[in-house]
Amino acid sequence: MRILVIEDEKKIASFIQRGLKEEHYAVDVAYDGEQGLYLAEINSYNLIVLDIMLPGKDGIFICRELRKKAVKTPILMLTARDALEDKVSGLDSGADDYMTKPFAFEEFLARVRSLLRRDAAQTSNVLLVADLELSQLSHKARRSGSEITLSSKEYALLEFLMLHKNEVVTRTMIAEHVWNEAFDSFTNVIDVTVKHLRDKIDTNAVLPLIHTIRGSGYMISEKRP
Ligand code: CA
Repeated sequence: MRILVIEDEKKIASFIQRGLKEEHYAVDVAYDGEQGLYLAEINSYNLIVLDIMLPGKDGIFICRELRKKAVKTPILMLTARDALEDKVSGLDSGADDYMTKPFAFEEFLARVRSLLRRDAAQTSNVLLVADLELSQLSHKARRSGSEITLSSKEYALLEFLMLHKNEVVTRTMIAEHVWNEAFDSFTNVIDVTVKHLRDKIDTNAVLPLIHTIRGSGYMISEKRP
């Protein structure tokens, strides 16, 4: 599950980011409206946390733009003010829920979970490549019908590969989206996690699905690249 946080107050942004990462969500942060809108348009997120008061383009504008462009990602709006008109214009602009800052992280998390559940119930939440299935709800994988238990990093990596099936994903992309960290120090961790995934998914299978693309990265595909 990947979440975009658009919040210009660095302290609040990092508080939210840290908390969500602890819950094993992949988190991207934008500190202004322009960058937030850009990321929301080019990437696919399961949820957007959107502050209303932002430099440049404000949250209401961003929300309207995204809905105009048929981006249906659930949006949880944040504002420092407890003003009724903010709440009304936020929900009018297409937001799904609303929270007033400051808030307790537990309550925030409960709203996040509820929006993600609602979204998952509306869209198909099982990813498929050949006879490999991955449930985005239970985080369990199945290959030829047998259940495979994954660690949280293995799950996040497999989900990322499956969301990009038949595309090469580089180690940099994996580092950023699965580990949310800079590339350098993570190369080995990525390779080790890929190896564990292969052991679980491909070892006893006739058709290997996870391919190494020499010099580039990895690809999940039922066809040999
Ligand atoms: Ca703000």
